[in-house]
Amino acid sequence: MVLFFVLLPLPSAALESLEKVTLQLDWKYQFQFAGYIAAKEKGFYKEAGLDVELIEYQNGIDAVQEVLEQKTNFAVSNLSIFMQNKELVPIKLLATYFQKSPHIIVASADIQSPNDLIGKAIMISHSDLEGGSVAALFAHFFLNKDNITIVAPSFTIEDFIEKKVDAVSAYRTNEIFELEKRNIEYNIIDPADYGYASVTGNLYTSATEAKEHPERTRKFLHASNKGWAYALENQEELISIIFDKYSKKKSIENLRFEAVETKKLIQPDIIAIGSINQKSRLGFLKQLKRSSLLREDQELDVANEQSLFTAEQQDYLQNKKEITMCVTPEWMPFESINNGVHIGIVADVISLFKQRLPIPIRLIQTKDWGESLIKAENRTCDILSLAVKTPSRKSYLDFTKPYLDLPVVMATKNDTLFINDITEVKDKKLGIVKGYAMAEHLRLKIPGINIVDVASMHEGLAGVERGELFGYIDNLMVMGNALQHDFTGVLKVSARLADNSKLGIATRNDQPQLKEIFELLIQNTPTDELQTIYNKWVAIKQAPVVDYTLVWKLLAATVLLTLGYLFHYLKLKKLNDQLLILAITDKLTGLYNRVKTDEVIMQEKAILDRYGTEFSIILLDIDFFKHVNDSYGHLVGDNVLIEFAGIIKHSVRVTDYAGRWGGEEFLIICPNIGLDETTELAEKLLQKIRLHHFLEVGALTASAGVVQFSKQASIENTINSVDKMLYFSKENGRNQVTAYSEKN
Ligand code: GH3
Ligand code: MG
Ligand code: MG
Repeated sequence: MVLFFVLLPLPSAALESLEKVTLQLDWKYQFQFAGYIAAKEKGFYKEAGLDVELIEYQNGIDAVQEVLEQKTNFAVSNLSIFMQNKELVPIKLLATYFQKSPHIIVASADIQSPNDLIGKAIMISHSDLEGGSVAALFAHFFLNKDNITIVAPSFTIEDFIEKKVDAVSAYRTNEIFELEKRNIEYNIIDPADYGYASVTGNLYTSATEAKEHPERTRKFLHASNKGWAYALENQEELISIIFDKYSKKKSIENLRFEAVETKKLIQPDIIAIGSINQKSRLGFLKQLKRSSLLREDQELDVANEQSLFTAEQQDYLQNKKEITMCVTPEWMPFESINNGVHIGIVADVISLFKQRLPIPIRLIQTKDWGESLIKAENRTCDILSLAVKTPSRKSYLDFTKPYLDLPVVMATKNDTLFINDITEVKDKKLGIVKGYAMAEHLRLKIPGINIVDVASMHEGLAGVERGELFGYIDNLMVMGNALQHDFTGVLKVSARLADNSKLGIATRNDQPQLKEIFELLIQNTPTDELQTIYNKWVAIKQAPVVDYTLVWKLLAATVLLTLGYLFHYLKLKKLNDQLLILAITDKLTGLYNRVKTDEVIMQEKAILDRYGTEFSIILLDIDFFKHVNDSYGHLVGDNVLIEFAGIIKHSVRVTDYAGRWGGEEFLIICPNIGLDETTELAEKLLQKIRLHHFLEVGALTASAGVVQFSKQASIENTINSVDKMLYFSKENGRNQVTAYSEKN
């Protein structure tokens, strides 16, 4: 069979309608830009209506300056923060692709720490010394032109190999390949080892471009994200494209090395591609200030920089153009419609959401809640601002997690006795606003309950006052408000129902994106902003007019208690905390995973460098673990690992960190103690292991290495040392501890 592949040229009309934009790169074509190249070559930009020209770096070009001067629409830069004369430059960060910086100093073998660079010749550009993690590191160690010789870059590692300079500014993704291939001895000084971590591979546009062409900006970002996802999934294909079509400066083999290193920096398995790590940027901002590279009063406008929504959600919103909203027209202090304007707590919360949404929310006026429900069901309204989840509503609505949690109460005439249990009065006429979730809930829970629909709270309370209804049920906040103002001395709260009203945003269920979007909005609204809104409206309650009955007083106290918890923040926070725990723990053993262990080491090392505190580590490896797997099988092996981790957990101090280093190796990080004490701890631990009876396999032993960190040695060298110590323990017959000392 013969297959014909016909390449159809795009109709010229389509080509003409593509918008031309440029992307300035900050280096020569290589895998570093694979995502953008993929977006261009695989047609993602074209699908987005864009004709993107990639501009390769030329000597002397400052990519970001090009953006600022609007010579290019977009630019890539390794810097996550821009400064000029110690002030931040107003520029818009669209995405961060590399979660770690590959920027390092490669130095000759005798240079082990930044201090060793003093008096040496270093090849580094001026811009490298002005911002970024290497600049921050140099500032920290007071390295500058007064004590080092700065050599202008030749853009090749040859000068270092030929020993014309002692050290050179380099990238883990690039120069290391050549050094390894040619077996050159070198040392790496990585700013991250000293606590100066920064994100790189940042995509920028100018504030003007973002403002005047928001749609184009969004599409460009979306297509670039898609390109990166593709490039990381199809590395070989991209390597060929880059080599065949863009640049032969790097060999295929070299590009492969770069691709592997690049993926490590992007971390697509744990971090959404392109997501901006504001925490890291803010941390770096502080370091820049401490190093006096940036003025103290400079702050990032973080809230304005990042869109909350994924590219897909943004697409959905753009197509939607506006969101229609129905509310409860009379439900103060939560909400009401006043001369066509939505007011109250909910209205204020919604206006916070509006600030973060790229499209408007339009209020659809209704005469009552019942009409709002009907309009939601027939899709006139996309959302209901405040609603409780009920079985019948689930057929046409989705519900976000609640953002209000309120006690439900019943109001009766003043002379009624306190009611313990609502079932006692289930035969009496009890008013509830038509369509309120409470009615549905109570009818299900208390069969035969005599609920009477009323149009509004006011009608319900007036009905009670006239004696047509025995009671009226609603949540405490709204009721309290009305009782104080309109029914003082006539009506009172005489019962609290067992269940609270949990209210969130309801969204039409035929557009599930809406629920995700509002869930994000709720999660990302700071607690203090909600609290301010709440206080503003609830302050009305303070008017000292009512002669409170005891019950009412108690309930008022409940409201105050609930106040702190009103907006369901603890719950959301708990969820977020759980996610965080997942990202840092090893699934099998529950100890910290490798990523977290690395991070802790970096943190502790930075503290040591700054404050000179002591800090040691123990590396443990189970002896002859392969036998366990071979004789009992992998599952038993796993159980042994879990048991082993349990022993570690119970043997270390609360201030220590225990992590799974890999396979059956564990690393214990002991801040604030030196070599001797740590060695003692390791001995005790091995003794515990010796004495332990492992459930399915009986006795086992382990070997350990111990080393103390020092200011002089890099993290890498220290880890190498501890590895070596472990190896000595194994060589000398296992089941023992070896501590690092100079003679080793
Ligand atoms: P040594 O005393 O020299 O350490 O001998 P060893 O047999 O323990 O050798 P080594 O440390 O090289 O081997 C570790 C073995 O641990 C290899 C691997 O099959 C096994 N292993 C690594 N991770 C896991 C795991 O998650 N579960 C199980 N069951 N086995 C694992
Ligand atoms: Mg091992
Ligand atoms: Mg082993």
